Amino acid sequence: MVFSLGLHPYCVSEIKSEALGDLLSKLQFQLSSVLPAAHAVGECGLDFRQAPGAPARAHQVACFRGQLEIARTLGLPLTLHCVGAHGAMLELLRERPTPPSVLHAFSGSAEVGRQLVAMGHYLSFAGNLCIPGARKVVEAARSVPAERMLIETDAPDQTPPGRRPAPNEPAFVVDVAARLAEVRGESLESVAAQTWTNACRVFGLADDDLAARNE
Ligand SMILES: [Zn+2]
Repeated sequence: MVFSLGLHPYCVSEIKSEALGDLLSKLQFQLSSVLPAAHAVGECGLDFRQAPGAPARAHQVACFRGQLEIARTLGLPLTLHCVGAHGAMLELLRERPTPPSVLHAFSGSAEVGRQLVAMGHYLSFAGNLCIPGARKVVEAARSVPAERMLIETDAPDQTPPGRRPAPNEPAFVVDVAARLAEVRGESLESVAAQTWTNACRVFGLADDDLAARNE
């Protein structure tokens, strides 16, 4: 089994500030005690749609900063959720060197993507890439270097348009791969092979190791 552990920005409003330090210590202990099965910290990050006021955003930042420190201490990548907060995300990632990490269900611009790639991170594309007229994320998908692109479903969220109204499921990742291949002018096979290699690299998994764990 391969997994990650983290405090999702949807849930951090339930954490009282005075309890945060203790919770982060427990998270770090859990991650370090189950290594090497834990391959990432996350999902964690920022979602300013869920935090309309300054105090709520500051609380999200505090929770996220603590998890950045855990990832840096343990040398683990992060799976990063970022909605409506790309500027703040870039600033926090720049504060200190951060292990190469994954911006999951990437929704930012090509320029934000370029800055993330320059810091060593990966962009993971999900069902939003398949939405007709999704120009911004298509531009990002075209410009990301092949060795930094990933694919995912974000199931059960983000069902690709061609599969609705079915709930999203992992098998639909082929839709995202096909759309990524289309917008980049590459073959489905090359996108599949490249994203597999990239996933193994960023999460520190041997190729056959990941295949065996998924059986
Ligand atoms: Zn997310």
